[in-house]
Amino acid sequence: MKIYILDDFEPTGVQFIQSKVQQVIPFGDPATSQWHEDAEAVMIRGSRLTADDFAKAKKLKVVSKQGVGVDNLDLEAARRHGVVVCTTPGVNSDAVAELAFGLALSVSRRIQEMGQMIRAGEKIVRPQLLGYELHQKTVGVIGMGNIGSRAARYFHKAFDCQILAYDPYAKPDAWADLPHERMSDLKQLWPVVDLVTLHVPLTETTYHIVNREAIALMKPSAMVINVSRGGLIDEVALFEALSQGRLFGAGLDAFEEGEPPSANNPLLSLRNVVATPHAGAGTVETQIKSSLLTAQQLWHVLQGNEPFHRVA
Ligand code: NAD
Repeated sequence: MKIYILDDFEPTGVQFIQSKVQQVIPFGDPATSQWHEDAEAVMIRGSRLTADDFAKAKKLKVVSKQGVGVDNLDLEAARRHGVVVCTTPGVNSDAVAELAFGLALSVSRRIQEMGQMIRAGEKIVRPQLLGYELHQKTVGVIGMGNIGSRAARYFHKAFDCQILAYDPYAKPDAWADLPHERMSDLKQLWPVVDLVTLHVPLTETTYHIVNREAIALMKPSAMVINVSRGGLIDEVALFEALSQGRLFGAGLDAFEEGEPPSANNPLLSLRNVVATPHAGAGTVETQIKSSLLTAQQLWHVLQGNEPFHRVA
């Protein structure tokens, strides 16, 4: 059996699969360019597998993909050729929720802004640098899936925040152990939140979910956090509100133009914007867990079992 590793993985998963299978062709080996010829399984991250790839790879049985995004895979072609495709959802939830929390603190206490001022040797005028506490504030969580529900718990446990949960697709009894108020209408959420954090996929219904009308309803002291996907926020409206003091600040790990945003993105000129380059899952722990789960799932399927998370 031959397994090809088509992307650069954290070593834990590579070592796992090497301990099970003799012929593992690692990422970087020139032979990987010929993987179609005899691969029975591949481990991938961002590599693109097209209909042509699936047609050429006659022996391919399994594609084990690290992460949840499958836009680099032609799933229809995989199904047509009887190839199982599996992913690793949920592994990065703690890391992404932590980044939402970190961005919230950085924005609310102006941590990045003050750091920039100190480094630039600027005069510190304390009354002009007051931040907001998160303690007992009202936090709106849009999308209460793996990451959103964790972020909600962090805000509740750390700062005794009141959680307003908006997720029309979740079961009525979801998050029974988490004190929260379930919201069914975003128009009622915007005016009361001190902070809103976005944890939804980008779809037709979530595109610009934070739009000009939503921002107009929010308090000028409110903050917006997006560690999900660019396109959830109307960035032109956000820029106008932030630069005119109609919102306090924003923490953004995702941008409409993609990540990292270009250095001349107008939002980056604002001191009340804290920006990261889609770094939500960027922890050592997540890379180890994801790499290992990708390899374990591959081995599990090759043993004749159903994948833990099958997408094709
Ligand atoms: P998930 O599928 O577990 O949760 C998404 C939730 O959004 C679900 O509960 C779903 O019911 C809800 N939802 C869908 N449409 C909605 C709508 N219109 N209004 C309200 N709720 C809606 O996904 P997840 O793993 O929690 O990921 C959430 C987001 O985080 C995704 O956009 C994902 O791409 C992103 N993400 C970002 C990073 C990063 O590095 N920043 C890493 C992983 C995931």
